[in-house]
Amino acid sequence: MIEPNATHDPALRSWVASANDGITDFPIQNLPFAIFRRKGSQEVWRGGVAIGDQIVDMAAAVAAGVFAGDALAPAQAAAESTLNHLMEMGGKPASILRKTLSKALQTGSPHEGALKPCMVAQSGAEYTVPCRIGDYTDFYTSIHHATNIGRLFRPDNPLMPNYQWIPIGYHGRASSVIVSGQDFHRPHGQVKAPGADAPRLAPSARLDIELELAVFVGQGNALGDSVGIDAAEDHIFGLALFNDWSARDIQPWEYQPLGPFLAKNFASTVSPWVVTLEALAPYRVPFTRPAEEPQPLPYLASSAHSAAGGFDIQLEALIATPRMRQESSAPARLALTNYRHAYWTAAQMLAHHTVNGCNLQPGDLLGTGTLSGPTLDAACALIELTAGGKNPVHLPNGELRTWVEDGDAIILRGWCEKPGAARIGFGECVGVVLPAKA
Ligand code: CA
Repeated sequence: MIEPNATHDPALRSWVASANDGITDFPIQNLPFAIFRRKGSQEVWRGGVAIGDQIVDMAAAVAAGVFAGDALAPAQAAAESTLNHLMEMGGKPASILRKTLSKALQTGSPHEGALKPCMVAQSGAEYTVPCRIGDYTDFYTSIHHATNIGRLFRPDNPLMPNYQWIPIGYHGRASSVIVSGQDFHRPHGQVKAPGADAPRLAPSARLDIELELAVFVGQGNALGDSVGIDAAEDHIFGLALFNDWSARDIQPWEYQPLGPFLAKNFASTVSPWVVTLEALAPYRVPFTRPAEEPQPLPYLASSAHSAAGGFDIQLEALIATPRMRQESSAPARLALTNYRHAYWTAAQMLAHHTVNGCNLQPGDLLGTGTLSGPTLDAACALIELTAGGKNPVHLPNGELRTWVEDGDAIILRGWCEKPGAARIGFGECVGVVLPAKA
């Protein structure tokens, strides 16, 4: 587990003024990675690092000779058109690159003159998914979400007996993971109304959101090898925001006996910026399990993991309806939660995924599952917020929402803050739902 170091010092200031305002998601203590190019251009996609409201164009910075020694190889990897190579290198090269970037971006750095021409304003950039995602696995790590959903689908037996023993997951689909800002059409699917004799094909009328975190795999493991709990984080590159859109009318008709399928694989939106585990070092929290509940099996437990296996990350889901955008009113909050409420940690997800020898590869995406907290205002899907569609959400402008409507924008945000550490954030994960195709 990475301990806080000189790159986390809250007193650090950057010569990029917007990094020092105390409210940016991207102060010098964060330094997340994305793949970008200038908006509307045909430039090649390349890696960038966020600093304030700017992006360090890594390809330009490498060409400007800013990196040398052990920092050169990871800097070159971070300049490529995907982050897979950087992810594959493992934590140490990425950590050396972070230290070098931190120094180069600090006030008074001799690299300021060389780096200044390498800056691109975030407002003038567009993004693509940060890496080639070979495989996407979605977990179910919030016991609050599992219980809320279980109550709707199985009122007499909400939490399945395996839940407190196994980090439950299923294999999702990587090809439909899209980047924030990329719109998608409402899906069609088989739906069967209660009491109907037969299903029919229709656009989903119960489109939902799922506020999750994306856990990006760093270095992989060979087929047949498992990764122990204390080595698991060496295989995690970083985290991003993730909206796993779900069609709640397609789901109940198709999910038995083999699990989620077309209700889940039409679109999942990931935020462009990947925040490294090292950046999150000041925000680690203990992993605890109530004494009266089953304790994790030994391959999912260790003293180091108990001490700091969790993350203190605030997470928020908001909606901006077409009317709200037309009237220029602020997006309305749907839910506010914290990743610390998860029943299973990122390390446990990875250790469990590989315990049978399954090989994870650089750039694989592990979704945490909907990160609902213990109270209704921390419920991170509309199916929970509306009690299965019975109680619409009242928005501040008087509009009601039971499910996501055409034109609605859903915005996810995430940030970490506490006394004695710099506030860092994840930027935004935004998706607008377009009408179903004819
Ligand atoms: Ca999900």
